[in-house]
Amino acid sequence: MQQVRAVVARSQGAPVSVETINVPDPGPGEAVVAVQACGVCHTDLHYREGGINDEFPFLLGHEAAGVVEAVGAGVSEVVPGDFVVLNWRAVCGECRACERGEPWYCFATHNAAQKMTLEDGTELSPALGIGAFAEKTLVAAGQCTKVDPSASPAAVGLLGCGVMAGLGAAINTGNVGRGMSVAVIGCGGVGSAAVAGARLAGAGRIIAVDLDEQKLAWARSMGATHTVNAAESDVVDAVRELTGGFGADVVIDAVGRPETWEQAFYARDLAGTVVLVGVPTPEMKVPEIPLIDVFGRGGALKSSWYGDCLPSRDFPMLVDLYQQGRLDLDAFVTEKIGLDDVEAAFDRMHTGNVLRSVVVL
Ligand SMILES: [Zn+2]
Ligand SMILES: [Zn+2]
Repeated sequence: MQQVRAVVARSQGAPVSVETINVPDPGPGEAVVAVQACGVCHTDLHYREGGINDEFPFLLGHEAAGVVEAVGAGVSEVVPGDFVVLNWRAVCGECRACERGEPWYCFATHNAAQKMTLEDGTELSPALGIGAFAEKTLVAAGQCTKVDPSASPAAVGLLGCGVMAGLGAAINTGNVGRGMSVAVIGCGGVGSAAVAGARLAGAGRIIAVDLDEQKLAWARSMGATHTVNAAESDVVDAVRELTGGFGADVVIDAVGRPETWEQAFYARDLAGTVVLVGVPTPEMKVPEIPLIDVFGRGGALKSSWYGDCLPSRDFPMLVDLYQQGRLDLDAFVTEKIGLDDVEAAFDRMHTGNVLRSVVVL
Protein backbone atom coordinates (compact mmCIF):
# COMPACT_ATOMS: atom_id res chain seq x y z
CA MET A 1 0.00 0.00 0.00
CA GLN A 2 1.14 3.56 -0.65
CA GLN A 3 -0.25 7.03 -0.05
CA VAL A 4 -0.65 9.66 -2.77
CA ARG A 5 -2.46 12.97 -3.36
CA ALA A 6 -5.74 12.83 -5.26
CA VAL A 7 -8.85 14.85 -6.10
CA VAL A 8 -11.92 13.62 -4.21
CA ALA A 9 -15.59 14.63 -4.40
CA ARG A 10 -16.91 13.96 -0.90
CA SER A 11 -20.54 14.98 -1.30
CA GLN A 12 -23.05 16.13 -3.89
CA GLY A 13 -22.33 19.60 -5.27
CA ALA A 14 -19.56 20.35 -2.76
CA PRO A 15 -16.26 21.63 -4.13
CA VAL A 16 -13.71 18.89 -4.70
CA SER A 17 -10.71 18.62 -2.39
CA VAL A 18 -7.18 17.31 -2.73
CA GLU A 19 -6.72 14.52 -0.20
CA THR A 20 -4.29 11.81 0.73
CA ILE A 21 -5.56 8.42 -0.42
CA ASN A 22 -4.38 4.84 0.04
CA VAL A 23 -3.51 2.91 -3.14
CA PRO A 24 -3.22 -0.86 -2.55
CA ASP A 25 -0.42 -2.87 -4.14
CA PRO A 26 -1.74 -4.52 -7.30
CA GLY A 27 -3.47 -7.86 -6.82
CA PRO A 28 -4.09 -10.50 -9.50
CA GLY A 29 -4.98 -8.88 -12.81
CA GLU A 30 -4.33 -5.35 -11.50
CA ALA A 31 -1.79 -2.61 -12.19
CA VAL A 32 -0.68 0.55 -10.38
CA VAL A 33 -0.06 3.42 -12.78
CA ALA A 34 1.92 6.60 -12.05
CA VAL A 35 -0.33 9.19 -13.68
CA GLN A 36 1.41 11.81 -15.84
CA ALA A 37 -1.62 13.66 -17.23
CA CYS A 38 -5.40 13.56 -16.86
CA GLY A 39 -7.98 15.68 -18.70
CA VAL A 40 -10.92 17.34 -16.96
CA CYS A 41 -14.14 15.95 -18.52
CA HIS A 42 -17.80 16.93 -18.04
CA THR A 43 -18.38 13.44 -16.67
CA ASP A 44 -16.18 14.29 -13.66
CA LEU A 45 -18.41 17.26 -12.99
CA HIS A 46 -21.51 15.04 -13.40
CA TYR A 47 -20.11 12.71 -10.74
CA ARG A 48 -19.55 15.61 -8.36
CA GLU A 49 -23.09 16.88 -9.03
CA GLY A 50 -24.50 13.45 -8.17
CA GLY A 51 -25.72 13.01 -11.74
CA ILE A 52 -24.17 9.54 -12.25
CA ASN A 53 -24.94 7.82 -8.93
CA ASP A 54 -24.67 8.59 -5.22
CA GLU A 55 -21.71 6.38 -4.34
CA PHE A 56 -19.72 9.20 -2.74
CA PRO A 57 -16.86 9.78 -2.12
CA PHE A 58 -15.65 9.72 -5.73
CA LEU A 59 -12.06 9.68 -6.87
CA LEU A 60 -12.36 11.81 -10.01
CA GLY A 61 -10.42 11.85 -13.28
CA HIS A 62 -10.50 9.32 -16.12
CA GLU A 63 -8.80 10.69 -19.30
CA ALA A 64 -5.27 9.78 -18.45
CA ALA A 65 -1.86 8.60 -19.53
CA GLY A 66 0.99 7.44 -17.36
CA VAL A 67 3.60 4.81 -16.69
CA VAL A 68 2.91 1.36 -15.24
CA GLU A 69 4.65 1.16 -11.88
CA ALA A 70 3.76 -2.35 -10.72
CA VAL A 71 1.57 -5.25 -11.83
CA GLY A 72 -0.08 -8.07 -9.92
CA ALA A 73 -0.03 -11.81 -10.47
CA GLY A 74 -1.05 -13.14 -13.86
CA VAL A 75 -0.74 -9.83 -15.69
CA SER A 76 0.58 -10.26 -19.24
CA GLU A 77 -0.81 -7.15 -20.98
CA VAL A 78 1.74 -4.70 -19.56
CA VAL A 79 4.97 -4.62 -17.56
CA PRO A 80 6.39 -1.94 -15.24
CA GLY A 81 7.78 0.95 -17.27
CA ASP A 82 5.21 0.73 -20.08
CA PHE A 83 3.70 4.06 -21.19
CA VAL A 84 -0.07 3.59 -21.29
CA VAL A 85 -3.33 5.38 -21.96
CA LEU A 86 -6.02 4.31 -19.49
CA ASN A 87 -9.37 3.13 -20.80
CA TRP A 88 -12.75 2.30 -19.33
CA ARG A 89 -13.38 -0.57 -21.70
CA ALA A 90 -11.14 -3.44 -20.53
CA VAL A 91 -12.94 -6.15 -22.47
CA CYS A 92 -13.73 -9.46 -20.76
CA GLY A 93 -13.44 -11.73 -23.80
CA GLU A 94 -16.24 -13.94 -22.51
CA CYS A 95 -19.55 -12.07 -22.61
CA ARG A 96 -22.18 -12.26 -25.37
CA ALA A 97 -20.73 -9.26 -27.23
CA CYS A 98 -17.15 -10.49 -26.98
CA GLU A 99 -18.11 -14.00 -28.06
CA ARG A 100 -19.82 -12.78 -31.20
CA GLY A 101 -16.72 -10.77 -32.15
CA GLU A 102 -17.93 -7.31 -31.13
CA PRO A 103 -15.76 -6.60 -28.07
CA TRP A 104 -16.29 -2.83 -28.37
CA TYR A 105 -19.76 -3.54 -26.96
CA CYS A 106 -18.35 -5.71 -24.10
CA PHE A 107 -21.04 -6.00 -21.42
CA ALA A 108 -18.72 -7.04 -18.57
CA THR A 109 -15.66 -4.78 -18.70
CA HIS A 110 -13.00 -5.17 -16.03
CA ASN A 111 -12.03 -2.80 -13.21
CA ALA A 112 -9.64 -3.28 -10.29
CA ALA A 113 -11.04 -5.68 -7.70
CA GLN A 114 -9.44 -3.91 -4.72
CA LYS A 115 -10.59 -0.50 -3.55
CA MET A 116 -8.56 2.64 -3.10
CA THR A 117 -9.56 4.41 0.12
CA LEU A 118 -9.35 7.65 2.05
CA GLU A 119 -6.80 7.65 4.87
CA ASP A 120 -9.50 6.55 7.34
CA GLY A 121 -10.31 3.51 5.21
CA THR A 122 -13.46 4.86 3.54
CA GLU A 123 -13.72 3.19 0.13
CA LEU A 124 -13.54 5.48 -2.92
CA SER A 125 -15.58 5.09 -6.10
CA PRO A 126 -13.20 5.84 -8.99
CA ALA A 127 -14.78 7.78 -11.87
CA LEU A 128 -15.48 5.34 -14.73
CA GLY A 129 -13.45 2.76 -12.80
CA ILE A 130 -10.27 4.79 -13.25
CA GLY A 131 -9.80 7.69 -10.80
CA ALA A 132 -6.77 9.41 -12.29
CA PHE A 133 -6.68 12.87 -10.72
CA ALA A 134 -4.13 11.18 -8.50
CA GLU A 135 -0.39 10.75 -8.44
CA LYS A 136 -1.01 7.01 -8.74
CA THR A 137 -4.07 4.90 -9.39
CA LEU A 138 -5.03 1.23 -9.25
CA VAL A 139 -6.77 -0.23 -12.32
CA ALA A 140 -7.39 -3.57 -14.01
CA ALA A 141 -4.39 -4.36 -16.21
CA GLY A 142 -6.71 -4.48 -19.24
CA GLN A 143 -7.47 -0.80 -18.64
CA CYS A 144 -3.87 -0.01 -19.61
CA THR A 145 -3.24 0.30 -23.34
CA LYS A 146 0.42 0.52 -24.30
CA VAL A 147 1.24 3.27 -26.81
CA ASP A 148 4.31 4.99 -28.31
CA PRO A 149 6.24 6.29 -25.27
CA SER A 150 7.57 9.33 -27.11
CA ALA A 151 4.06 10.87 -27.33
CA SER A 152 2.94 13.74 -25.08
CA PRO A 153 0.98 12.35 -22.07
CA ALA A 154 -1.28 15.44 -21.90
CA ALA A 155 -2.32 14.97 -25.53
CA VAL A 156 -2.70 11.20 -25.80
CA GLY A 157 -4.35 10.83 -22.39
CA LEU A 158 -7.38 12.57 -23.91
CA LEU A 159 -7.95 9.47 -26.05
CA GLY A 160 -9.06 7.86 -22.79
CA CYS A 161 -12.54 9.37 -23.02
CA GLY A 162 -13.96 12.46 -24.73
CA VAL A 163 -11.70 12.76 -27.75
CA MET A 164 -12.01 9.03 -28.45
CA ALA A 165 -15.79 9.34 -28.12
CA GLY A 166 -15.85 12.02 -30.81
CA LEU A 167 -13.34 10.43 -33.17
CA GLY A 168 -15.09 7.07 -32.81
CA ALA A 169 -18.56 8.55 -33.32
CA ALA A 170 -17.42 9.51 -36.83
CA ILE A 171 -15.04 6.67 -37.69
CA ASN A 172 -16.52 3.66 -35.89
CA THR A 173 -20.21 4.35 -35.26
CA GLY A 174 -20.96 6.66 -38.19
CA ASN A 175 -18.77 4.67 -40.57
CA VAL A 176 -17.80 7.88 -42.32
CA GLY A 177 -16.03 7.10 -45.57
CA ARG A 178 -14.20 9.16 -48.17
CA GLY A 179 -16.24 11.76 -49.96
CA MET A 180 -19.17 11.57 -47.58
CA SER A 181 -20.89 14.61 -46.11
CA VAL A 182 -20.94 14.93 -42.33
CA ALA A 183 -22.61 17.42 -40.00
CA VAL A 184 -21.62 17.70 -36.33
CA ILE A 185 -23.98 19.45 -33.93
CA GLY A 186 -22.17 20.82 -30.87
CA CYS A 187 -18.44 21.54 -31.14
CA GLY A 188 -16.98 21.24 -27.66
CA GLY A 189 -14.32 18.62 -27.01
CA VAL A 190 -16.36 15.65 -28.26
CA GLY A 191 -17.87 17.43 -31.27
CA SER A 192 -14.55 18.91 -32.35
CA ALA A 193 -13.08 15.42 -32.13
CA ALA A 194 -15.93 14.15 -34.32
CA VAL A 195 -14.99 16.80 -36.88
CA ALA A 196 -11.36 15.64 -36.71
CA GLY A 197 -12.53 12.04 -37.10
CA ALA A 198 -14.60 12.90 -40.16
CA ARG A 199 -11.55 14.55 -41.72
CA LEU A 200 -9.35 11.54 -40.91
CA ALA A 201 -11.93 9.28 -42.55
CA GLY A 202 -11.86 11.34 -45.75
CA ALA A 203 -15.22 13.11 -45.55
CA GLY A 204 -15.66 15.57 -48.40
CA ARG A 205 -17.83 18.11 -46.66
CA ILE A 206 -17.79 18.63 -42.90
CA ILE A 207 -20.37 21.01 -41.47
CA ALA A 208 -19.89 22.17 -37.88
CA VAL A 209 -22.90 23.51 -35.98
CA ASP A 210 -22.78 25.43 -32.71
CA LEU A 211 -24.16 28.53 -30.99
CA ASP A 212 -20.70 29.79 -30.09
CA GLU A 213 -18.28 31.38 -32.57
CA GLN A 214 -15.27 30.25 -30.51
CA LYS A 215 -16.35 26.62 -30.83
CA LEU A 216 -16.99 27.03 -34.55
CA ALA A 217 -13.45 28.39 -34.86
CA TRP A 218 -12.12 25.30 -33.08
CA ALA A 219 -14.13 23.10 -35.42
CA ARG A 220 -12.67 24.89 -38.46
CA SER A 221 -9.18 24.28 -37.14
CA MET A 222 -10.04 20.57 -36.73
CA GLY A 223 -11.20 20.26 -40.33
CA ALA A 224 -14.72 21.67 -40.69
CA THR A 225 -15.23 22.91 -44.25
CA HIS A 226 -18.37 24.88 -43.37
CA THR A 227 -19.88 26.25 -40.16
CA VAL A 228 -23.42 27.05 -39.13
CA ASN A 229 -24.18 29.33 -36.18
CA ALA A 230 -27.38 27.81 -34.80
CA ALA A 231 -28.25 31.13 -33.13
CA GLU A 232 -28.50 32.76 -36.54
CA SER A 233 -29.89 30.12 -38.89
CA ASP A 234 -32.21 27.13 -38.92
CA VAL A 235 -29.89 24.14 -38.54
CA VAL A 236 -31.84 21.73 -40.74
CA ASP A 237 -32.26 24.26 -43.56
CA ALA A 238 -28.63 25.31 -43.37
CA VAL A 239 -27.27 21.73 -43.51
CA ARG A 240 -29.58 20.89 -46.41
CA GLU A 241 -28.50 24.03 -48.27
CA LEU A 242 -24.86 23.05 -47.88
CA THR A 243 -25.53 19.53 -49.19
CA GLY A 244 -27.34 20.20 -52.45
CA GLY A 245 -30.71 20.32 -50.69
CA PHE A 246 -30.47 16.70 -49.48
CA GLY A 247 -28.96 16.66 -45.99
CA ALA A 248 -25.73 15.08 -44.77
CA ASP A 249 -24.87 11.40 -45.07
CA VAL A 250 -23.97 11.28 -41.39
CA VAL A 251 -25.17 13.71 -38.71
CA ILE A 252 -23.53 13.49 -35.30
CA ASP A 253 -25.35 14.91 -32.27
CA ALA A 254 -22.59 15.77 -29.80
CA VAL A 255 -24.97 17.71 -27.56
CA GLY A 256 -27.47 15.04 -26.57
CA ARG A 257 -30.71 16.96 -26.19
CA PRO A 258 -34.12 16.21 -27.77
CA GLU A 259 -33.91 19.42 -29.85
CA THR A 260 -30.49 18.66 -31.29
CA TRP A 261 -31.33 15.01 -31.92
CA GLU A 262 -34.43 16.09 -33.86
CA GLN A 263 -32.26 18.48 -35.88
CA ALA A 264 -29.87 15.63 -36.58
CA PHE A 265 -32.76 13.41 -37.65
CA TYR A 266 -34.02 15.90 -40.26
CA ALA A 267 -30.63 17.30 -41.33
CA ARG A 268 -29.71 13.85 -42.63
CA ASP A 269 -30.07 12.63 -46.21
CA LEU A 270 -32.36 9.69 -47.06
CA ALA A 271 -30.77 6.45 -45.84
CA GLY A 272 -28.31 8.52 -43.80
CA THR A 273 -27.10 7.85 -40.30
CA VAL A 274 -27.73 9.75 -37.06
CA VAL A 275 -25.13 9.20 -34.35
CA LEU A 276 -25.98 10.25 -30.79
CA VAL A 277 -22.74 10.74 -28.82
CA GLY A 278 -23.73 13.64 -26.54
CA VAL A 279 -25.00 12.26 -23.23
CA PRO A 280 -28.66 13.05 -22.40
CA THR A 281 -29.93 13.45 -18.83
CA PRO A 282 -32.37 10.84 -17.46
CA GLU A 283 -35.49 13.01 -17.80
CA MET A 284 -35.02 13.72 -21.53
CA LYS A 285 -37.36 12.01 -23.98
CA VAL A 286 -37.11 11.07 -27.65
CA PRO A 287 -38.80 13.92 -29.55
CA GLU A 288 -42.19 13.30 -31.12
CA ILE A 289 -41.39 12.37 -34.69
CA PRO A 290 -43.97 10.82 -37.03
CA LEU A 291 -43.18 7.12 -37.23
CA ILE A 292 -43.69 7.31 -40.98
CA ASP A 293 -40.67 9.66 -41.10
CA VAL A 294 -38.55 7.09 -39.28
CA PHE A 295 -39.68 4.42 -41.72
CA GLY A 296 -39.78 6.53 -44.85
CA ARG A 297 -36.36 8.13 -44.46
CA GLY A 298 -34.62 4.83 -43.85
CA GLY A 299 -31.02 4.71 -42.71
CA ALA A 300 -29.83 4.21 -39.18
CA LEU A 301 -30.31 5.86 -35.79
CA LYS A 302 -27.35 4.89 -33.64
CA SER A 303 -25.82 5.64 -30.25
CA SER A 304 -22.09 5.82 -29.76
CA TRP A 305 -20.75 4.84 -26.39
CA TYR A 306 -17.06 5.73 -26.01
CA GLY A 307 -16.96 6.03 -29.80
CA ASP A 308 -17.52 2.25 -30.09
CA CYS A 309 -13.78 2.06 -29.60
CA LEU A 310 -11.65 -0.96 -28.95
CA PRO A 311 -8.75 0.55 -27.00
CA SER A 312 -6.20 -2.11 -27.98
CA ARG A 313 -7.00 -1.51 -31.65
CA ASP A 314 -7.69 2.24 -31.70
CA PHE A 315 -5.36 3.90 -29.16
CA PRO A 316 -2.00 2.81 -30.67
CA MET A 317 -3.25 3.64 -34.18
CA LEU A 318 -4.47 7.11 -33.19
CA VAL A 319 -1.27 7.84 -31.24
CA ASP A 320 0.71 6.90 -34.35
CA LEU A 321 -1.40 9.28 -36.47
CA TYR A 322 -0.80 11.97 -33.85
CA GLN A 323 2.95 11.36 -33.95
CA GLN A 324 2.86 11.63 -37.74
CA GLY A 325 1.11 15.00 -37.56
CA ARG A 326 -2.14 13.69 -39.05
CA LEU A 327 -4.27 14.10 -35.91
CA ASP A 328 -3.72 17.25 -33.88
CA LEU A 329 -4.39 16.08 -30.33
CA ASP A 330 -2.38 19.03 -28.95
CA ALA A 331 -5.12 21.32 -30.23
CA PHE A 332 -7.50 19.86 -27.64
CA VAL A 333 -5.23 20.83 -24.75
CA THR A 334 -6.30 24.39 -23.92
CA GLU A 335 -4.44 24.62 -20.62
CA LYS A 336 -2.27 22.55 -18.31
CA ILE A 337 -3.08 22.75 -14.61
CA GLY A 338 -2.22 21.10 -11.29
CA LEU A 339 -4.25 18.78 -9.05
CA ASP A 340 -5.26 21.79 -6.95
CA ASP A 341 -6.86 23.52 -9.92
CA VAL A 342 -9.59 20.98 -10.81
CA GLU A 343 -12.38 22.88 -9.06
CA ALA A 344 -11.45 26.08 -10.93
CA ALA A 345 -11.37 24.08 -14.18
CA PHE A 346 -14.97 22.95 -13.51
CA ASP A 347 -15.94 26.64 -13.28
CA ARG A 348 -14.22 27.41 -16.57
CA MET A 349 -16.23 24.65 -18.29
CA HIS A 350 -19.34 26.81 -17.89
CA THR A 351 -17.77 29.74 -19.68
CA GLY A 352 -17.19 27.50 -22.70
CA ASN A 353 -13.75 28.87 -23.48
CA VAL A 354 -11.88 25.64 -22.81
CA LEU A 355 -11.74 22.50 -24.94
CA ARG A 356 -9.80 20.57 -22.31
CA SER A 357 -8.01 21.52 -19.13
CA VAL A 358 -5.41 18.85 -18.46
CA VAL A 359 -3.95 18.09 -15.04
CA VAL A 360 -0.23 17.44 -15.45
CA LEU A 361 1.65 15.61 -12.69
ZN1 LIG B 1 -17.02 -8.94 -22.91
ZN1 LIG C 1 -14.85 11.64 -19.95
